[in-house]
Amino acid sequence: MNPRNADSARTPAWDPKTLLVAGGRPAHGYDAPVNHPVTFTSTYHSKGQAAPGERVYARFSNPTWDPFEQVLGELEAATLPALVFSSGMAAIAAALSIVPEAGVLVMPRHSYNGSLALSSELQEAGRLSIRPVDIANTEEVLAALDGADVLWVESPTNPMLEVADLPALLAAAKAKNTVSIVDNTFATPLLQQPLNHGADLVVHSVTKYLSGHSDVIMGALVTSDEQLHSRLHGYRTLHGAIAGPMDTFLALRGVRTMSVRIDRSQSNSQVLAERLADHPKVQAVRYPGLPSDPGHERAAKLMGGFGSVIALEAGSTAQEADRVLDALKLITGATSLGGVESLAERRARHASEPASVPASLIRLSVGIEDVEDLWADLDQALEQL
Ligand SMILES: *Cc1c(COP(=O)(O)O)cnc(C)c1O
Repeated sequence: MNPRNADSARTPAWDPKTLLVAGGRPAHGYDAPVNHPVTFTSTYHSKGQAAPGERVYARFSNPTWDPFEQVLGELEAATLPALVFSSGMAAIAAALSIVPEAGVLVMPRHSYNGSLALSSELQEAGRLSIRPVDIANTEEVLAALDGADVLWVESPTNPMLEVADLPALLAAAKAKNTVSIVDNTFATPLLQQPLNHGADLVVHSVTKYLSGHSDVIMGALVTSDEQLHSRLHGYRTLHGAIAGPMDTFLALRGVRTMSVRIDRSQSNSQVLAERLADHPKVQAVRYPGLPSDPGHERAAKLMGGFGSVIALEAGSTAQEADRVLDALKLITGATSLGGVESLAERRARHASEPASVPASLIRLSVGIEDVEDLWADLDQALEQL
């Protein structure tokens, strides 16, 4: 049902930076296009009345998904292609469907607020029960795993940027037969590959770094477990939250430049975080790249970089932080992250955000603009205080 591309048997394996650019291309050949065409169709010709073809109907499969699913699967070091969904939340809903009836779900207190809202809704309906944990506190998470069915990990967390000891948590989950799911949206497979540490399933909001241009809403799941893959493929087919072919094309086009985008946004983030930490109007900065950050040592050891999101407290009240945000001229005041353009928002303006997220906390998604232009914009906005 999900034909794999012929070139996935390459030896030696490409570096991820090469895979981003060269994976999922049509075979080389005279007059062959360098990109796969976008297939707009709802159905496929049958072999004859006696038997449908392989693809049958476009809710089951679409050739435009294949190269993206192949590339993301390989990036996450999976033995199977990824599964694309219509949004990160659609992928998360499918992932949560594997929690058994009345099962116990261990989940970071500061997970993405959509994951928290959906799991809380399922808890209220009696479908599962949640054990909230501080994901950076390994002892606390290990203790919560007793009798748990599923461990949900997000690292670094959105928006508090807590860093989990991924190998320790995933090994403990495996030892206790707890299924582990990692939302790898913030790190991307370029900075960490949870399946290599024993995760059963990886979740992505493709909307963010993978597509990278704030023009697509899409999600994906990745696993090397055949049974789980087939179950989630079935879930996608029946629940119907499939990715559009045009969105998938844009996401693959975005993936091509992900390593250079992340190189730039990370180096910008390091410079901005250091300057913000020294700024008299800034109360607190969280960025794993700062040696003073509680997640620094762990991130330096476990991750291929510190990411491109900074959390800062500008002033100490919501009003003060809003004054700073409203004074930004280059950086866009908007939700979301992971695009080429820098975005900032005060997270606690969303009622769904956990109460422990400070009222004045601004999540800054650092883009690939010139770092001095970004700094000049932040510096003049902080003058509002
Ligand atoms: C944005 C986000 C999601 C949700 O993805 P959508 O594509 O917006 O549905 C899930 N997890 C994390 C960490 C996110 O940042």
